[in-house]
Amino acid sequence: MAGVSFVKGGVHPEEHKELTQHLPIEEMPPPKEVVLPLSMHFGAPAKPIVGKKQEVREGDPIAVVEKALGATIHSSVTGTVKAIEPRPHPIMVRCDAIIIERDPAAPPRQYESEDWRSLTREQLLGRVRDSGIVGLGGAGFPTHVKLSPPPAAKVDTLILNGAECEPYLTTDHRIMLEQPAKVIEGAKIILKTLGIKKCIIGVELNKPDAINALNKVLEKARRDDMSVSVQGMRVKYPQGSEKQLIFALTGRSVPGGGLPFDVAVIVQNISTTLAIFEAATMQKPLYEKVMTVSGRGVRRQANLKVKVGTVLSDVVDYLGGTTDDLVKIVTGGPMMGFAMSSLEVPVVKTTSGILFLGSKETDLSPHGPCIHCGWCIEACPMGLSPKEVGIYVEAGRGHLTEKFGVMECFECGCCAFVCPAKRPLVQFARLAKMDIKRRGA
Ligand code: SF4
Ligand code: SF4
Repeated sequence: MAGVSFVKGGVHPEEHKELTQHLPIEEMPPPKEVVLPLSMHFGAPAKPIVGKKQEVREGDPIAVVEKALGATIHSSVTGTVKAIEPRPHPIMVRCDAIIIERDPAAPPRQYESEDWRSLTREQLLGRVRDSGIVGLGGAGFPTHVKLSPPPAAKVDTLILNGAECEPYLTTDHRIMLEQPAKVIEGAKIILKTLGIKKCIIGVELNKPDAINALNKVLEKARRDDMSVSVQGMRVKYPQGSEKQLIFALTGRSVPGGGLPFDVAVIVQNISTTLAIFEAATMQKPLYEKVMTVSGRGVRRQANLKVKVGTVLSDVVDYLGGTTDDLVKIVTGGPMMGFAMSSLEVPVVKTTSGILFLGSKETDLSPHGPCIHCGWCIEACPMGLSPKEVGIYVEAGRGHLTEKFGVMECFECGCCAFVCPAKRPLVQFARLAKMDIKRRGA
């Protein structure tokens, strides 16, 4: 199968997927307590609807967003609310969280399955909303909002993002390989919700087993008027970012400042599609998460299914601890993830991986001045000039970098990856954007 790709920029970092791509998804036993931050995704923080000492069941809603953009948070265990207080957070440093002590005697909650085909579009959308589903591949945008594009958008294509182009991460790979029928049914549920017929599942060619598994299900799938196909994509980072993915699979270019529906496309991630399947067929809320735990700084690597709210120290204990060589902990992938300074941060809905990187997997050497080689410009998939942004930010003039297109930067890290001077170009772009937004506000 010839792979399609985006054209401008991109890089080929070492994949490191061999550490976990062969490991079946493993369920971690629930921890003694879970920490559920009230800010877990894009939009307003949720407001608690439970109080201290209140008993809750696995899957019960415990915090909601009433009027603003946001998503409901559900308890991931059966137990008692121990506290509502600030706790470490993977991105916000600290944030109010609901802490629930698990009842060790409580059995896991069971869900019954029903045929989603008997449900209307509105009922399906309602189930997605009530299940608190958010985009699991990125910033966690509420999925029920994404599945309600404005009628003027005239969406005609659904893209399922199975690229998983970040090094180390193998979660979506394992889901496509182990549960391909649920992914295909999930795609059809989304098609019905959107009222459209065409879905393309884009998968990088480094996952031939997943491509085969999906195609086998499609060959045997019951005939209907929906068209779902799998398209192999070249292995190139950031093949899975929305604009690059849409271009590779449809040839359509999302305009600057625009959204996928501006070119009649909706993109969903593979893990999100599985969550939509479970919400539509079982009314199961999103409170469990498959994530990759990898790197040479942890004793055992795994593709783990964990309860949302499990703190990293419990994950590390379960996997036998860290190695003496551990130098850096990252949530997400190494290109777009965030460095962690505490093992007390919890897994949130959008955590796709936790990397424990050893000394040979990370470069902590200090950065130098720009040598004007231009490699960052060549590597940027958005055609920006990261070197100029860096120079301006260092001079305290980050607010003047809009002319270099900095607001289009989606922090993919290609520029920093190729920079021979090790300049922190993503942080520079982040600072410039914050400065521009602050002054605009
Ligand atoms: S991080 Fe931003 S500036 Fe750097 S390559 Fe990616 S899009 Fe371009
Ligand atoms: S890659 Fe680094 S050194 Fe080269 S131009 Fe860009 S910022 Fe400067």
